[in-house]
Amino acid sequence: MSANSAPSPIAFLDGSYIPLKDAKVGIMTHALHYGTGAFEGIRGNWNSDHEKMYIFRLREHYERMLRGAKLLFIDIPYTVEELCKITVEVIQRSGFREDVYIRPMAYKGEEKVANLNLKALGDSFFCLAVPFGQYIDSDGAISCCIASYRRIDDTMVPPRFKLAGLYLNSILAKTDALSSGFDEAIMLNQDGHVCEGTGENIFVVHGDTVATPTLESNVLPGITRATVIDLVVNELGLRLEERPVDRSELYVADEVFLTGTAAHIQAVGSIDHRLIGSGSIGRLTKSLQDLYFPIVRGQNSKYLHYCTPATPIGAKSS
Ligand code: PMP
Repeated sequence: MSANSAPSPIAFLDGSYIPLKDAKVGIMTHALHYGTGAFEGIRGNWNSDHEKMYIFRLREHYERMLRGAKLLFIDIPYTVEELCKITVEVIQRSGFREDVYIRPMAYKGEEKVANLNLKALGDSFFCLAVPFGQYIDSDGAISCCIASYRRIDDTMVPPRFKLAGLYLNSILAKTDALSSGFDEAIMLNQDGHVCEGTGENIFVVHGDTVATPTLESNVLPGITRATVIDLVVNELGLRLEERPVDRSELYVADEVFLTGTAAHIQAVGSIDHRLIGSGSIGRLTKSLQDLYFPIVRGQNSKYLHYCTPATPIGAKSS
């Protein structure tokens, strides 16, 4: 492929690199019926100066995926290192020169219906990538509502893993929010504390203190969350509290923002029709965005170790 040719998306499916359009599963696939998969959402951020895709915190994503796979007794024959290499190769072979979203999934790929014993089912793995721009269609601060659906509890299906079937919970809340004219839903957990967005962790700012729900609040242990906690403490020198957060704290916060691989750092301008701060992006949220975006695009040498480079086949390497 030459540097100017159109990308031709390639997927890795059970040991082979094949055109994405040919990567299909059968209608009896267990994961299709029951959501028996552990997956990831990873961003590749294109740096046109370097002619490279920088894949953000790739290792950490696969470590999380393998924890979810363990819960579901999914055994795939790859180490974290091998999964990282496969991902780089998918990007290289596909030839993308724009931001992408990478979706690997380890799942019960056996075509067996009416069987609820995870141990009786064979496993599969795929990795694909698609061009991906903004996740939430907004340039400014978004409007949120508190969802009527509560976050699923660890005693039901553990939300600390990124499990396919679990996403029905997020999808119901998100669809309701959009249907009511909001941009995003914020879910409470079973005990009524603030949990997270449907695909993002949440942070609340009061003065110089930033708070976020603890990992035991049924949140997904977000990789962006961990990055932002580090930036808040070590770059901005602010106080960070991981603690239960009340719903009422959100309404009177100076700033609220959401974090996630897809959403990046997203300012929240209103919750249940109450303005947060001035209703536009807050000072601290803006400072974090200014730190974060160069980091994920490989433009901050201090954090380059978070970025796995992939050069599309045909591009000049620098
Ligand atoms: N919570 C949920 C429910 C999510 O789906 C995501 C996206 N993976 C997040 C939080 C944010 O996690 P991360 O920063 O690792 O993308």
